[in-house]
Amino acid sequence: MKYVLVTGGVVSGLGKGVTASSIGVILKACGLRVTSIKIDPYLNTDAGTMSPFEHGEVFVLDDGGEVDLDLGNYERFLDIKLTRDNNITTGKIYQSVIDKERRGDYLGKTVQVVPHITDAIQDWIERVAMIPVDGKEGPADVCVIELGGTIGDIESMPFIEALGQFSYRVGPGNFCLIHVSLVPVLNVVGEQKTKPTQHSVRGLRGLGLTPNILACRSTKVLEENVKAKLAQFCHIPAENIVTLHDVPNIWHIPLLLRDQKAHEAILKELNLLGHLLCGYVDIATSGPTISASIFNLSICSVARKPALELWTARTKVCDMLHDPVRIAMVGKYTGLSDSYLSVLKALLHASVACHRKLIVEWVAAGDLEDATAIEAPDVYKAAWDLLKGADGVLVPGGFGDRGVQGKILAAKYARENKVPFLGICLGMQIAVIEFARSVLGMCDTNSTEFDPETSHPCVVFMPEGSKTHMGATMRLGSRRTYFKVPDCKSAKLYGNASFVDERHRHRYEVNPDMVSQLENAGLSFVGRDETGRRMEIVELPSHPYFIGVQFHPEFKSRPGKPSAVFLGLIGAACGHLEAVLKYGHASKLLTKGLSNGKPMVKIHQNGNLKPSNGSLNGVYSNGNGVHY
Ligand code: GLN
Repeated sequence: MKYVLVTGGVVSGLGKGVTASSIGVILKACGLRVTSIKIDPYLNTDAGTMSPFEHGEVFVLDDGGEVDLDLGNYERFLDIKLTRDNNITTGKIYQSVIDKERRGDYLGKTVQVVPHITDAIQDWIERVAMIPVDGKEGPADVCVIELGGTIGDIESMPFIEALGQFSYRVGPGNFCLIHVSLVPVLNVVGEQKTKPTQHSVRGLRGLGLTPNILACRSTKVLEENVKAKLAQFCHIPAENIVTLHDVPNIWHIPLLLRDQKAHEAILKELNLLGHLLCGYVDIATSGPTISASIFNLSICSVARKPALELWTARTKVCDMLHDPVRIAMVGKYTGLSDSYLSVLKALLHASVACHRKLIVEWVAAGDLEDATAIEAPDVYKAAWDLLKGADGVLVPGGFGDRGVQGKILAAKYARENKVPFLGICLGMQIAVIEFARSVLGMCDTNSTEFDPETSHPCVVFMPEGSKTHMGATMRLGSRRTYFKVPDCKSAKLYGNASFVDERHRHRYEVNPDMVSQLENAGLSFVGRDETGRRMEIVELPSHPYFIGVQFHPEFKSRPGKPSAVFLGLIGAACGHLEAVLKYGHASKLLTKGLSNGKPMVKIHQNGNLKPSNGSLNGVYSNGNGVHY
């Protein structure tokens, strides 16, 4: 097993996670099998109890692990399925060491940070790196480890010490350290400044870690003299210094790394370059048969230059999209768009598949409510204008009663005006509450989450949940949904499958005792769990596209493999639902396009749509929140 460690210096928010994922992408494109580990030095056992509005979304894995959103980046970029143990936290490590101490495993010794915590970290990494995550048998070739936080943080010290020891444990040629740093440009003189990077590399060395490669975030490409200076002062060869300058969307990052031959520098450090060269085949000039025979001769699985043709094509398509599709996201508005990161990514994947430029209109649910009409009429009007100007409405998951009434109003608007609607988890529950109120005339019906005393509970607490313990007590992870109505839109979108596995994170569910009443009034619960009592997918057959899902389909959406119900939403929002339903699966759309094979792409510079700052996610926003 080879290890690539990614650390960050100078400031947080440099896009270290995206850089680490992109490194994974180029290594995978070289033919290596890649897994990843994210280290979060905070004390929480996992991200499950952390507010998404402070820390970004809680990402959910197949095994029910509630983890840092960077694991979502890894899963999306590398198309892998990670486990909860791929996210290491201080809480988890200390808990494992304290459990051992209580069992008496340390045989009377004093239990200390060094060696017990540091050993536990190294053992954890070695164990988890061996877990296959790409659906194939046997361990991966390379494990990319991302250390969260910035060099110098007090809480990451045990990890730095452990990783320093680890580099000796695995030995030279098996460990490559990439330090992501910032090269700021001073406005007055426009000069790229190297000092912060110099200091952070010095800090890293002082802690016993020697960087092999520097990845410098900057607004522009690093000037040659700046690179030379960094090389000299940081003792890193110039060819091992790469610039990660601002790009129009994050899918460019693996391409930037490839163009600067970062993969060669990494493979050299990992003693894989020789093998790479022995089977170095230019796929463009030699046929697949020749390369296949060389693969077999090669003693390692690396046998080609990075094959990023599909990735490059998708990135270009994304850059050149022009025709907009506007989706109103009706949620709690807090300014931190990372709180809905996977939903935004899933929207983007679907929009790119439909060759549309995604415009997310952030609508703060509370702004749609009557109280706002009185307190701040302008805000109220602006919110309704955004909602009414949208081609589709999405109500994402959420907890707590803030903004619930606004979300109900948004669902009502979409239902009555036949605007494409997707409700996710809480969004589905909202759609059911709205329907029961408006169509069944149950004015006071509610979820017991918001009104425990309601006389008509249409959404209820699930029997197996805990009301006293918050950590890992929800219905979590991958569960199976069976289609009960084969001819429904969602079944078609899922390729006429009889069942689908999606990830969950909820405590409440549609009240099974109210289902027949709701169905008699026109709602259709087309997807249910194996017992048939738990509602998973609801549709309104009389509506062009009105779907609610109890699960979170966004967690399994991938670039080039958009989530079915997101694809349906975007397809319906741009008037192409029939084509989407016909092709059945998104991957075909990318190759065929939606207009007789002719890609609907024009190069166009639209002054109104501003790409955001550096760490772009390929999404454009109305500016009503962090630019995305
Ligand atoms: N609060 C709701 C529940 O617990 C919805 C959760 C969610 O949207 N993830 O069921």
